[in-house]
Amino acid sequence: MSRIGIDLGGTKIDAVTLSAGGETLFEKRVATPKTYEGVVAAIAGLVREAGDGSVGIGAPGSSSRLTGLWRNANILFCNGKPFQHDLEAAIGRVVKMENDANCFALSEAIDGAGQGYGVVAFFTVGTALGGGLVVNGKLVVGANGEAGEFGHTALPWPNASEWPLLPCFCGKTGCAEQYVSGTGLQRDHLRVAGEDISSKEIVARARRGDARALASLQRLQDRFARVAANIACVVDPDVFVIGGGLNELPELVEHLPPLISRYSFSGTAVAKVVRAKHGEKSGVRGAARLWD
Ligand SMILES: [Zn+2]
Repeated sequence: MSRIGIDLGGTKIDAVTLSAGGETLFEKRVATPKTYEGVVAAIAGLVREAGDGSVGIGAPGSSSRLTGLWRNANILFCNGKPFQHDLEAAIGRVVKMENDANCFALSEAIDGAGQGYGVVAFFTVGTALGGGLVVNGKLVVGANGEAGEFGHTALPWPNASEWPLLPCFCGKTGCAEQYVSGTGLQRDHLRVAGEDISSKEIVARARRGDARALASLQRLQDRFARVAANIACVVDPDVFVIGGGLNELPELVEHLPPLISRYSFSGTAVAKVVRAKHGEKSGVRGAARLWD
């Protein structure tokens, strides 16, 4: 049977149909409408065009297991809506729906950089810090759909210079996302170096040998390693896969394994860290695989 994947993003919606063998049968991208009703209608229209098959949908945010209402999406008008219910009504089929970072994780674990590994911890490091956990090819979503939300685990072992911890939009303080993300890098650089420049510019300056930019990147790496070592205490991943905008930074990935080892419980754990293989198509391919 064919598998249809939909990836809802802030600016575009991607659709794909994969054959049973994994070949792409259909692909289409449309702009994301500006209203909730528009988004539901656009996704239903894409599924009709995509043909017969199972439907998996990836979107920012997640469904509350208690209420069935969508929450924590940066596409704000989707929050508080019975998103999956409305999509199933509009499409006329049962759908599987997951957080977009979970779809990225599934795609990387099945035929990406995490292929062949048992426990795959996936990070998408961009404006925010998304995460996903795949064990033996199966996405782990957990009892409340909150497994793999690495961005909202606490920054482990904060040092004196990191107090007071920063507030997060989720209502708590000290979430990893506030530190390990492009936004976090930018804010940290402003706080320490006094320069209000983009994370991209910080990376560019670090490559030119700018001492302040290099120091900011080193603080980011150190925090990233602490987050990863903390995850290792729970599931000890066979591989950490890093995607998202900061994935463009090979230095970040190369420097992480010894740092993670240093922060690991034994102090000597061997950590494998790789960059994501699939680019932006990873989300829609992972969504199609939600029925695997
Ligand atoms: Zn948070």
